[in-house]
Amino acid sequence: MPTILLTNDDGISAPGLRALAAALEGLGDIYIAAPDRERSASAQSITLLDPVFYEQVAEREWAVAGTPTDAVILALNRLLPGPPDLVLSGVNHGGNMGENVYYSGTAAAAMEGTINGHAACAISLVGRRANPDFSASAAFARTLADLALTEGFPEGVMLNVNVPADWKGGVRFTRQSKKITRNYLQDGVDPRGRKFVWLSEQKRITDVEPDTDYAAIFAGEVSITPLALDRTHTQSLNHLSHWAEKLRRG
Ligand code: MN
Repeated sequence: MPTILLTNDDGISAPGLRALAAALEGLGDIYIAAPDRERSASAQSITLLDPVFYEQVAEREWAVAGTPTDAVILALNRLLPGPPDLVLSGVNHGGNMGENVYYSGTAAAAMEGTINGHAACAISLVGRRANPDFSASAAFARTLADLALTEGFPEGVMLNVNVPADWKGGVRFTRQSKKITRNYLQDGVDPRGRKFVWLSEQKRITDVEPDTDYAAIFAGEVSITPLALDRTHTQSLNHLSHWAEKLRRG
């Protein structure tokens, strides 16, 4: 039986994670290490200046009082009996496309698996409805997990999966799109007179490039974007390398 590590950034009790665990039953030995509460938008952050407390909450399940990446690090180094064959992060409540990949704790937790040489996928359900049905996205994750375990995929690549709420069955491999939202700030003042803003985002454009993650979702299809751990932009490396001569000292 393959070993599969599940994690997320919505917290260990989140319905998306529970749906994923239920859907994967029988596919492997399932282990869960996840934050003890919602840690969405924590990106790849790790806790260095405080201890990271953790607690076993069920058989093969641990709640970690830290970030999603902390949870994966703990799982890989303390909790799992051996290296996982697959790391799955999700199912996140809300999409992780375009630039949101950089803020996402869901994507980061999967990427932590990739960093450590394990096959990993992030799975997100697009839409902000309060209590969405995660069953179709979780079932898709199982089909994908089965395929990934059988066929494997390149080292250093994480699969960022987004499933539309109204999925009809189509699947596209896509590129990460540009930012299509703008930051939205709502101002307020607390009872002590301190100013604050609530941060969120607003959709700015709807005409997206056809081969991108958002385009697939707008068409009602699953988007799978292979993301590279190595962020080097090779064309720029070649194009800009002559700068080195001009930047050299003495
Ligand atoms: Mn989340």
